[in-house]
Amino acid sequence: MGKKRRIAICGFNLESNRFAPTCARGDFRENMYFVGNEISTEARKDSPAIHLGVKGFYNEMDKIFGDADGWVALPTMVIGSCPAGPVQEHFFDEFLEDLKAKFIAAGPIDGVYICQHGAAVATHTHDPDGIMFDLIRGLVGDGTPIVATLDLHANVSELMTSTVDVLIGYKTNPHVDMFERGVEAAQVLKEMLEGMRPKKHSIRLPLVAPSVTQLTAKGFPYGDLIRYGQSFLDEDIFNVTILSGFAFGDTPKNGMTIIVHSRSTPEKARLVAEELAVSAWADRTRYVPRMTKLEKAISLARQVQNDNRKKPLLFADPADNPGGGGRGNTTYILNAFITAGIKNCVFSVFYDVAAVEAACEAGVNGKPEITFNAQEESEYSQPLKVKARVLSLHSGKFEGHYGMAAGTTVDTGKTAVLDVDGIVIICISKRQQCRSADFITAFGLDPSSFGSIVVKSRGHFRAGFSHLFSDEQIIEVDVPGLTSPNLSNFNWKYLPRPVYPLDENASWTLI
Ligand SMILES: [Zn+2]
Repeated sequence: MGKKRRIAICGFNLESNRFAPTCARGDFRENMYFVGNEISTEARKDSPAIHLGVKGFYNEMDKIFGDADGWVALPTMVIGSCPAGPVQEHFFDEFLEDLKAKFIAAGPIDGVYICQHGAAVATHTHDPDGIMFDLIRGLVGDGTPIVATLDLHANVSELMTSTVDVLIGYKTNPHVDMFERGVEAAQVLKEMLEGMRPKKHSIRLPLVAPSVTQLTAKGFPYGDLIRYGQSFLDEDIFNVTILSGFAFGDTPKNGMTIIVHSRSTPEKARLVAEELAVSAWADRTRYVPRMTKLEKAISLARQVQNDNRKKPLLFADPADNPGGGGRGNTTYILNAFITAGIKNCVFSVFYDVAAVEAACEAGVNGKPEITFNAQEESEYSQPLKVKARVLSLHSGKFEGHYGMAAGTTVDTGKTAVLDVDGIVIICISKRQQCRSADFITAFGLDPSSFGSIVVKSRGHFRAGFSHLFSDEQIIEVDVPGLTSPNLSNFNWKYLPRPVYPLDENASWTLI
């Protein structure tokens, strides 16, 4: 038997919204922070708190090499924050120093798996992901295979594609294939360890798709494009990755990026990438968002409330999506629904630590006066005074069963369920988006008992509510916020203008 393969594992996961408050170590510690052997232990658990890509990678590596003893895992650091603003320079530099020290301490390395989001921005650079990839390439040398998995919201730089051999993007949005992409990374790495030397070709388009148009279900242009891309897979083309990117990163590297990987023929990778780029560009008008005005949303909510033969509705507030750096606490819809006297409605979930504390102090059945956003007032997060009744209080830890929450342990922090004039508000103290119906049932409520549900999420909730709501029952409401799909609402600084659909005159042709 030959020598056991020694594979380093690492990852830095952050989706930065340029317009949101900066983040640092505390934000990562609170969300995902695994160092050294903790990574291997967590990755081999049934419901791990680590990124599912890492679990998929370990799972497949253990299979490929017989068992956990068939290869040598060299776990370094896998960390991730809830989407936030740019990462602070001093913390990012400390992270790179720690990572470097761990790579050096690991000894000889035969290959590297990087579990990365790919849309981070730092206070001092547009491309922390590229800087990290470049550091790793420098540490392991040119001949060592490096395979990365990327979120499909990654904004890909030339530094990222030139330093890593294979970049495997998710194919689903909501993201339900993170595990499978980790598995794929292990399979590609195995081939590379056996001598395969991949070639790739990438093209970036001046197409910055608003978040709500990036869904991959049937009928959405992005999903159609990804499926078309997969039709080119054969014995030579082994991966087609199409990353629509994250508009709110506001970087010069924004723009849908197509990366085609070939086992042996760079020319073929180029032709496939070009065909896909031409196809995506020809389809660009389908990336213009169509959202529902708040007044219309109110009247729809009223209709369901007054006529129980009508199907329930799920209202989404994509402009305040914590999954995209939103604060999860704007009150445009809440205030309008309270004022309009909407009943039989649940808001899942609303982030306000002080409100949860006030509810805990008042106790169950207590009737505290609460001012939402009393401690966090900003342009979008305006205060709202309400008279509440505390329905229940919870620790906030639960197992997810649906969509992206399935098979994971969720922690919303201390959580209070409030009633405000017939509207139920689930207040949480750890900022995150409602990813599934679990975020309602976990707090003793039946999601199917409400006429309307309001979530602050862009699209990830869809997979977690698909057993209850069809696409026609989902209404995207157009209100202001840090993650509004209405891109003309923002003061862009670094996007490579012109870009479509922000600039209708944006043009692109194959050179
Ligand atoms: Zn994403």
